[in-house]
Amino acid sequence: MSTESTTETARHVLWHYGHRGGYRPGRFTQLLMQAIVAADVTHTARLASAYPELVEAMNLAANREDGIAQLKKTAGLACIRCGDEDGPFAGAPHQPLCEPCARPMPLDAA
Ligand SMILES: [Zn+2]
Repeated sequence: MSTESTTETARHVLWHYGHRGGYRPGRFTQLLMQAIVAADVTHTARLASAYPELVEAMNLAANREDGIAQLKKTAGLACIRCGDEDGPFAGAPHQPLCEPCARPMPLDAA
């Protein structure tokens, strides 16, 4: 499972829930996300065995208080340290940091 597709999945799920920075997937993924929302426990388990990443991301968005914030971090849309969404972001790929958080700590700071 590549980090790349996790980022993409996070953006698709953010789009599904109408969040800024999300982007619209292809028709199949759109329908799949609707199916995941509609699924009962048994069907969710079946979908999860075929699409673990998408089901997990959808579950995060729907059932966890901080799910959307987590997806934004995964998608590179929010600072992983302070959660700031304004950007621009520095930091390694998939580890976005806002400018204040990315600023190097002086070694001699008291
Ligand atoms: Zn920050």
